[in-house]
Amino acid sequence: MAFKEKVFHKEENCLNCNYPLIGKYCGNCGQKAFLHKDSFGHMALHFIGDYFHYDSKFWLTIKTLIRKPGLATIEFIQGKRVKYLNPIQLYIFVTTVFFLTVYFFTYIKQEEPK
Ligand SMILES: [Zn+2]
Repeated sequence: MAFKEKVFHKEENCLNCNYPLIGKYCGNCGQKAFLHKDSFGHMALHFIGDYFHYDSKFWLTIKTLIRKPGLATIEFIQGKRVKYLNPIQLYIFVTTVFFLTVYFFTYIKQEEPK
């Protein structure tokens, strides 16, 4: 089963927007009201899907990390997570782009005639 265990927040209001929580998601901003522990296979499938699912969260997270270092981290820890990319997703996405870029330029350099 994909969802092994669900751990619901003890808070009665959304950590992101302070809206009263009813159900699994915040009715105002859409952030999940629970944390769930997934199996490794489910996490791996999520990672693959999330890396190639590209949205504005990536650029907002990068812009915030460059302009105001620490703000994204503080807000993420405070529970305001819906507008930022998950740190692990960000790390793996940036690492993948970096290594693809290095591979691409190394490949081009090898193709040049001597
Ligand atoms: Zn909310």
